[in-house]
Amino acid sequence: MDFSLSEDQVELKKWAHEFAEKEIRPVAAEYDESEEFPWPVVKKAAEAGLYSVDIYLQAQQDPTGMTLPLIMEETFWGCAGIGLAIFGTGLPLSALAAVGTPEQLFEWAPKMFGTPEKPEVGAFAVTEPQAGSDVRNLRTRAVRDGDEWVLNGTKVFITNGQYANVYVVVATVDPELGHRGQASFIISRDDPGIRPGKKEKKLGIRASDTSEVILEDCRIPADRVLGGLDKLEGKLEKARKGESSGRASAALRTFEVTRPAVAAQATGIARAALEFAIDYAKERKAFGVPIAQHQSIQNTLADMATEVECARLLVHRAAWLAASGRPFEKAEGSMSKLKAGEVAVKVTEQAIQVLGGYGFIKDFPVEKWYRDSKIYTLFEGTSEIQRMVIARALIG
Ligand SMILES: Cc1cc2nc3c(=O)[nH]c(=O)nc-3n(C[C@H](O)[C@H](O)[C@H](O)COP(=O)(O)OP(=O)(O)OC[C@H]3O[C@@H](n4cnc5c(N)ncnc54)[C@H](O)[C@@H]3O)c2cc1C
Repeated sequence: MDFSLSEDQVELKKWAHEFAEKEIRPVAAEYDESEEFPWPVVKKAAEAGLYSVDIYLQAQQDPTGMTLPLIMEETFWGCAGIGLAIFGTGLPLSALAAVGTPEQLFEWAPKMFGTPEKPEVGAFAVTEPQAGSDVRNLRTRAVRDGDEWVLNGTKVFITNGQYANVYVVVATVDPELGHRGQASFIISRDDPGIRPGKKEKKLGIRASDTSEVILEDCRIPADRVLGGLDKLEGKLEKARKGESSGRASAALRTFEVTRPAVAAQATGIARAALEFAIDYAKERKAFGVPIAQHQSIQNTLADMATEVECARLLVHRAAWLAASGRPFEKAEGSMSKLKAGEVAVKVTEQAIQVLGGYGFIKDFPVEKWYRDSKIYTLFEGTSEIQRMVIARALIG
């Protein structure tokens, strides 16, 4: 067992950190306040190569699995909202890569990202007003009409929903088959019948866009179903006969593989808060000495640091399991997301405590990190859902 990073990994981490420090941190408060989408930063990230399909290709070829965790932790150390604006397109890209045909991947992945001169973003639209954790309950329908699909429904809370150039939308094809009657569709912003709805105002990650996506008689060519028509027909046929498709276990593994990268984002926020709290405690004086000399502050900092390390170790192990093709016997990917999400909330709250009253006001960034962290116990599967997945892996 070797916990040290290779030279390449050290370089990668440094590169992402420098971008976060120079281009993200300085504008984080401004975008948090305005809730505008940080296009200028996304453009800079595209020019630097941080926002690109290539990063994901590089990550996929990395046998250690460390590429995304390292980049995510550094970028989200800068700002989680801007980080999501840069990496939100990873979600529809993962769906496209996991289920799409090679032709679909080659055609649509570049469209999601655009070019460094004119970057674009993509969105993955699953959630509906009555269906968040319970994705079996989707009401968006996709109905076949000759050579086309016609989609109707409303998606909510969609990252990049307002601005996406390409949407991957999950809809029900055969309602009688429940979850197994669903399929994913690729929809271009220019297709008729798709439009962004309300842009949400949020507690945190306010630079990231979260919007409704409305489908009203949205017509797309029949071959825009992810994976192709034949695969869909085969899948529906198996479901009608009650045969197993093996899809449930494949989907579970996909989540285990993608969750560590999300967990690394949460770890980045927690680390930012920890570092800030340490620096502050060394400067701020109370009762004639820096507060870092008070035992209870030391205890808090020690607890914060231990939790951040713990989260990171779970992230790195889960990423390694994924990259080396090993099984997730205890749902280790979900464990990393559960732990890192809750650590981020706890550690950012402790950082406020270390700063005292100054932690509560906007002159300092810790109150923002506290607000930003909360989403990590909610999206990409709530903490309750992670616990459910872990418990099922344990109990069988
Ligand atoms: C900022 C933001 C960005 C998002 N981005 C996207 C996106 O890009 N694409 C997308 O499709 N969705 C997105 N979502 C949606 C997100 O994934 C859902 O909000 C999340 O899955 C929870 O669903 P819900 O809000 O309907 O809560 P619910 O499912 O209604 O859950 C409410 C509460 O009940 C608990 N609960 C539910 N079921 C169970 C159970 N079986 N056992 C125990 N507890 C349970 C939950 O854990 C939670 O505490 C985003 C949400 C937000 C806020």
